[in-house]
Amino acid sequence: MGVWEQNTMSERTLKNYVNGEWQNPANTGYLNVENPSTGGVIAHVPLSTPAEADRAIAAAKTAFPAWAATPVSKRVEPLFKLAALIRDNEETLARLIAEEMGKSLPDARAEIKRTLENTEVACGMPILQQGDKVIGCAAGIDGEVIRLPIGVFTMIAPFNFPAMVPFWFIPYALAAGNTYVVKPSEQVPCTMQLLTEYIAQCGFPNGVFNLVHGDKAVAERLMENEDISGVSMVGSTRVCRIVAETCGRENKRFQAMGSAKNHLVVMPDAKMEEVVRNMITSCFGCAGQRCMASSAIVCVGDAVYDEIVTRFVEASKQVITADPLDPAVADEQMVMGPVISAKAKEFILGMIETGVQEGATLALDGRQNGDRHNFPEENGVCPHFPRGHFIGPTVFTDVKQGMAIHTTEIFGPVVVIMKVDTLDEAIRIINEHQYGNGASIYTQNGHYARKFKLEAQAGMIGVNVGIPAPVAYLPFGGMKASLYADIKTQGKAIVDFFTESKVVTERFWPED
Ligand code: NAD
Repeated sequence: MGVWEQNTMSERTLKNYVNGEWQNPANTGYLNVENPSTGGVIAHVPLSTPAEADRAIAAAKTAFPAWAATPVSKRVEPLFKLAALIRDNEETLARLIAEEMGKSLPDARAEIKRTLENTEVACGMPILQQGDKVIGCAAGIDGEVIRLPIGVFTMIAPFNFPAMVPFWFIPYALAAGNTYVVKPSEQVPCTMQLLTEYIAQCGFPNGVFNLVHGDKAVAERLMENEDISGVSMVGSTRVCRIVAETCGRENKRFQAMGSAKNHLVVMPDAKMEEVVRNMITSCFGCAGQRCMASSAIVCVGDAVYDEIVTRFVEASKQVITADPLDPAVADEQMVMGPVISAKAKEFILGMIETGVQEGATLALDGRQNGDRHNFPEENGVCPHFPRGHFIGPTVFTDVKQGMAIHTTEIFGPVVVIMKVDTLDEAIRIINEHQYGNGASIYTQNGHYARKFKLEAQAGMIGVNVGIPAPVAYLPFGGMKASLYADIKTQGKAIVDFFTESKVVTERFWPED
């Protein structure tokens, strides 16, 4: 029986899953996992030692040869079972995400749908992993590309998508014949714990999949251990750089997907009512803590700027800031939960103060924002949950390129609105920004859209779509300081990361 079933919901002590067994790790202590809405403790997560990471890697290494030699059609059988378990437990998983991470239930359900979608796409590995063959590269000589599993892979996860982000990698790595060690974010370890309970029921051989809880000490060991073939890391660009340096030095494969500041460009011909509705979900969904959240609106022309400022500020006031599990609001589409922690809240409040000092206009102050369920009534304190980390929607206008509130990833419900005269100027602002994860344009004009698609330096482009996060069968990943990698994640793209493309050149002489 898994840990989750043995513990009450109020006090759970998490365990590692190594070589097919749940283990109480030797550890350097436990961290409290908080519900960010209430400040209540919902679990205790062990801070495993590097030796625990080594043990999991050793188990994965031992399991690798037999798993790699298992026919791909057999390797995907447990993944079909896993997909069914995720589908059957979608609501349980979504509620757990809302509880430990604080995003709204509709957002959490959407996250589980994408988690499931990635599992289903990986079930297509018998097709995805197929190689190529050229008959007759030269006289009597054939060329062949074969995609082979490589070894033990690992992933270091961020807090904002506790299920979906690990599943950008895990199902593909396993289906391709590799073995795996995952380290969830120590801030939101419960969802991956529950998913591991499902994985444990699917019939993977011992050691093929392992879970090690912990913080940066475990993450560092996972990167440095010589038996790790590749690292997928998603989180801040600060940590991406560490991953890139460490893995580059050790000659390991890596993908590190980092921070973002996503821009929304509004053209004069855009459908303003639809645009504003779309921008609100992009900017304030998940309290602005999506890597694809938009946080900078660039209006082309005075008239667009005036109209967007008025409409956007008004619409922002309608966002319901609340505990996403409060039954009174749980099924509302535009509920915004808390930010992840007291530390995150302090940083965001500091950035709001910076914006004021820089001379931007604070058109909507989320620190003091009272309305229906708009909890942060005074200085971000929610009267019902004074220990929750709530900040209301916050909007700055008159923002200039280069202000810290524009250059910095704030990762909270803070939006900056800027004015330019031309589309070229808007694209220049995007291209001069250090990050390039996503960018969207709102227009009905095909020429503007085409120019934007081709010229805006962001890995994921939206045309009248404010969150241009690709579905599981298309590649996901940014540009510039948002991505330290050559290979993006999801779909066909990730198969290249998890396989070695060996090229065979062969001939056979005729029998004498
Ligand atoms: P984070 O960088 O603080 O932590 C991410 C992971 O790295 C955690 O598991 C943490 O334990 C580990 N870690 C922290 N310090 C480390 C170190 N010195 N060495 C090795 N590992 C270390 O990120 P976070 O706050 O959990 O997540 C939010 C960030 O993730 C935002 O910047 C967001 O934009 C980014 N993100 C990016 C994408 C994307 O696709 N580009 C997706 C989701 C989140």
